[in-house]
Amino acid sequence: MISFEEARATILENVQTAPKTRIKLEKLLGSVLGEPVIANYDMPHFDNSAVDGYAVCLADVREASSTNPIQLPVAGEVRPGEQAPSSMPSGSAFRIFTGAAVPLGADAVVMKEVCENLGDTVKIGSCPTAGDHIRRRGEEFLRGKQILPEGMRITPAVVGVLASLGQASFMVRRKPTVAVISTGNELLKPGKNLTSGKVYDSNSFALIAALEALGIEEFLPLHCREDASETKKVLGLALDFADVVITAGGISVGDHDYVKPVLEDLGVKTLFYKVAMKPGKPVFFGLSSVNKKGKRQYVFGLPGNPVSALVTFHQLVRPAILKIMGEESSFNGRLPEQFKATLMSNLKKHPDRMEFVRAVVSMKGEEMIAYPCEGQDSHMLGGLAAANALIMLPTGSTGATTNDRVDVVLLNWHG
Ligand code: AMP
Ligand code: MG
Repeated sequence: MISFEEARATILENVQTAPKTRIKLEKLLGSVLGEPVIANYDMPHFDNSAVDGYAVCLADVREASSTNPIQLPVAGEVRPGEQAPSSMPSGSAFRIFTGAAVPLGADAVVMKEVCENLGDTVKIGSCPTAGDHIRRRGEEFLRGKQILPEGMRITPAVVGVLASLGQASFMVRRKPTVAVISTGNELLKPGKNLTSGKVYDSNSFALIAALEALGIEEFLPLHCREDASETKKVLGLALDFADVVITAGGISVGDHDYVKPVLEDLGVKTLFYKVAMKPGKPVFFGLSSVNKKGKRQYVFGLPGNPVSALVTFHQLVRPAILKIMGEESSFNGRLPEQFKATLMSNLKKHPDRMEFVRAVVSMKGEEMIAYPCEGQDSHMLGGLAAANALIMLPTGSTGATTNDRVDVVLLNWHG
């Protein structure tokens, strides 16, 4: 049995970032940038007005104030989308709108709120300083400057930036295809009638939801009964299709747990099988290259208990998916994922494993506090659904008491 830290390090050492591919702007959300984004023109592209008002020359309005407005003829009007007038006739103003090109020779724009529109003339009721309300060409980015780094997850705001560059497609990392296999004779598809001895298959849905939240789009959901030849057939299908294979259940040492022997039979090399963590002791990680495309494939065998499946997914599979997708988690101004919080009740544990306790963290004044959730058993999903964090109690410790400072990792289901 290896430690949680070793397990995570083994996964990250063996997982490779996917190749790059070009995709359309419309499809970018949830991918990770495969190239730095460089300004391909000065942004903004031309001097333009930040307000609705009047473009003026300073020399004409130096004496203007609310009690002494200066009256100027209006030489014309510039609307957004029109070319900038090539000159400012001296002693006049141009009516201008937000986003419209500032006439050449104008020094500032005065907001319409301090002006009085008299039709052919305008009374300017304040003296601006040079550059007032003008968004200058290149003031955000000069052509050639890096705007966003490679490895950044594409959020709605990133989509906006990319669109504003005027390109129809961008380089991103290819997303892996994932097969998700639930195992067990007791599993029933939601929608069917519950009968004695059966449980609804929640793992397939929860794991696929977790993958979708990370931006994964191509899945193969599969189910297999506790039967060696069926397990072999289903895992074979999964390995034919997917870059990443995730199984849930059937990975312990029970008489009907076929996943590990069948994976080995199919040529999957075991890198680890048991991890000193709770929930989730039986966790399998292996590599396969049996795929016809000759690609390296990653196989995760997660425990069947719903909490164990999701906690091991979050702590071990998610980092692998993010690495394959090329995500550098330090970008996007994210909060640190692990920090200290004050424990609000006593927790006991066995020293043999690291324990992840579902918890709700919040701020109390300046301090982060953590309340363990009700229902900490591995089959009790409600506690995980209520939690926003996991308290990490290390191997060797026998628990923690109220007011102890404990390590907490945020549950971040998104990338
Ligand atoms: P296993 O790891 O196969 O021994 O399963 C451990 C526990 O998790 C058993 O109580 C199973 O019924 C339950 N379980 C396994 N797979 C699922 C699933 N897909 N959805 C809900 N519960 C499951
Ligand atoms: Mg089972």
